[in-house]
Amino acid sequence: MSDGKNNLKKIFSKNIFLGSFNEIDKIPNINIAECCFVGRSNVGKSSLINSITNNKKLARTSKTPGRTQSVNLIEIDKIINLVDLPGYGYAKVSKSIREELAILIEAYISERPNLLLVFVLIDCKVGIKDSDIDILDLINSCNKDIYVVLTKVDKCAKNFILEQKKSILSLMSNYKKNFKEIFISSSKKKEGILNIQKEIFNLPKKL
Ligand code: GDP
Repeated sequence: MSDGKNNLKKIFSKNIFLGSFNEIDKIPNINIAECCFVGRSNVGKSSLINSITNNKKLARTSKTPGRTQSVNLIEIDKIINLVDLPGYGYAKVSKSIREELAILIEAYISERPNLLLVFVLIDCKVGIKDSDIDILDLINSCNKDIYVVLTKVDKCAKNFILEQKKSILSLMSNYKKNFKEIFISSSKKKEGILNIQKEIFNLPKKL
């Protein structure tokens, strides 16, 4: 068990930042399996990607929401692409930038041929918002696998986490065909990271 954990740690540590892109056509098409992370600003996406890749600087962690406004491409061990999408739903960003980001996210999810699954991050304390439903609808219409990740669970009581999980599972019955699983995570406590790594590691088999 711990050997498997160490192997995954080694594999995910072999990561290369391939670049930040503001236009879908500029993202290189490398013929390997791809997954992406999406969520509202401040959901803990950068922290989670940093935990998965054992790299504190790979995705920019910031106390200022809305900073990551481009598509960031990270290659894992030359076998998997991990993509960090811009955060959505940040009120302090102007309407035109919000619209630009929505277009970029939609273009990415609908046009990447090797994109196999999308991790939709939901802050456990905040729960699902309308903007999350919009994203879930989009992923569903593109027929990509959906994994929900409840983030920052260290901030919530066990019962609350269970209730939140239950209510999300009930919502996901609307996305039966594409919804696969819900993960619970805390980057702060390094909880749930291994399960997410395992899922990503299995991606090339699905290509
Ligand atoms: P992003 O905007 O989605 O990339 O979110 P960040 O990773 O930058 O995190 C936003 C804020 O949440 C930061 O202040 C982080 O320190 C905090 N944060 C992220 N993950 C966790 C977590 O697992 N637990 C707690 N308590 N705070 C977290």
